[in-house]
Amino acid sequence: MTYPNTQLFINGQWQDAADGKSLAVFNPATGKEIGRVAHASKPDLDRALEAAQKGFETWRDMTAAERSKIMRKAAGLMRERAGDIGRLLTQEQGKPLAEAKGEAMAAADIIEWFAEEGFRIYGRIVPSRGNLAVRQMVLKDPVGPVAAFTPWNFPINQVVRKVGAALAAGCSMLVKAPEETPAGPAGLIRAFQDAGIPNGVLGLVYGNPAEISSYLIAHPIIRKITFTGSTPVGKQLAALAGQHMKRVTMELGGHAPVIVCEDADIALAVKSAGAAKFRNAGQVCISPTRFLVHESIRAEFAQTLAKYAQGLKVGDGLAEGTQMGPLANPRRLTAMAEFQADAVQKGAKVLAGGERIGDAGNFWQATVLDEVPLNAKVFNDEPFGPVAAIRGFNTLDEAIAEANRLSFGLAGYAFTKSLKNADLLARRVEVGMLWMNMPAMPSAEMPFGGIKDSGYGSEGGPEAVEAYLNVRSVAIANV
Ligand code: NAD
Repeated sequence: MTYPNTQLFINGQWQDAADGKSLAVFNPATGKEIGRVAHASKPDLDRALEAAQKGFETWRDMTAAERSKIMRKAAGLMRERAGDIGRLLTQEQGKPLAEAKGEAMAAADIIEWFAEEGFRIYGRIVPSRGNLAVRQMVLKDPVGPVAAFTPWNFPINQVVRKVGAALAAGCSMLVKAPEETPAGPAGLIRAFQDAGIPNGVLGLVYGNPAEISSYLIAHPIIRKITFTGSTPVGKQLAALAGQHMKRVTMELGGHAPVIVCEDADIALAVKSAGAAKFRNAGQVCISPTRFLVHESIRAEFAQTLAKYAQGLKVGDGLAEGTQMGPLANPRRLTAMAEFQADAVQKGAKVLAGGERIGDAGNFWQATVLDEVPLNAKVFNDEPFGPVAAIRGFNTLDEAIAEANRLSFGLAGYAFTKSLKNADLLARRVEVGMLWMNMPAMPSAEMPFGGIKDSGYGSEGGPEAVEAYLNVRSVAIANV
């Protein structure tokens, strides 16, 4: 399947931008242009907004059963098309084909779960205090048309978590998907189109992110904002949403601690955290990044992880056997070189990787750094790349204090066989998601989101749907 040009999807039609403007899309494995994506400007956004309002009025008034039927059909289409969509994703984003196909398949699971959850949007009847003839009701209604902004690391997953919950709640959604990886999200939206979603319920635009977000967030048609991306951008958008009193969900950056206790199963810790670390070349908001390992086992853990990293096959995601692809864009390559130089200059030991591979495409070696000083950039800023930074600790309190030192609070990992340690970690580590003795296992049915600077709101579980609902009190006196 050749890589297509991607158009805007407005009012049920795929179309070029009104002014014909488009942007180039590059394959991160080769650095070559592979296609173009339409670049929306205000007239396109105005049409998309008007369609989102009409789409909302249609979708809001459909039953949960009708919505669920369309959603489940879209899920089926995603499953059928996962191979083709996965190939597009690999070409534009770089991840290995198996990961790309897996992302499209997982989208189907997420849509299905939300399709079912839409049946469980319950209100309440609350007994009246004074008058039995008064019926008090708590009603839940969709908030209205939503503007969603999503990034390039999981081009489909980041969209489907928002779309699934919004559609279940009865909202329409206008998605501003990533310009660097446009075809994957377009494949997802096309599945909904082919499943029969009414015009305007879903819209898809690309363009200048700052121009689009400032226009949509301020626009009276838009009633809720949802953003996934970096913390600095998230803070800007949340502030703008605040000026217009719009509801917000923010899924932002992380810097996940991995606490490996004295009594941990080292092989399990390396296997689980290693696989999670280098998945999608580390460009994952829940990627394990700060490895805090008990001093008694640090050297063994670090050497084993380094061996694991050195054994990974890095290459074009389309090539057979590739385990780690290129970084998604040249910005990440620059960032990796900066993290590396800074860590080495401050005294970190390089146990694996640390260099760019070749000079075509954005390949960076799977990297393991040991004895990383606390003031190294990699231990403070989100690396968003294939680097594991290790430090030792002596007491669990010390490890917990380090885990909580940064303003991030998204994911965390821990390895221990002690129930006492596990309980303490569950209570004290300040993260939205904590996985112990296992790799990350996000699913549609579990809340997904951060605390502190990692954002607020959740993109999984019933909480994800609640985020798209207004709660209203209505009382009727039976006169
Ligand atoms: P960035 O911070 O400029 O952009 C991050 C994302 O936000 C991109 O998708 C971008 O299109 C979007 N964006 C930027 N400015 C925007 C605006 N004003 N309005 C709406 N959307 C806007 O930089 P980047 O180089 O693309 O990514 C760098 C960092 O972003 C990474 O190091 C990582 O920390 C973070 N990031 C996080 C996630 C995540 O899943 N939470 C995903 C991608 C990137």
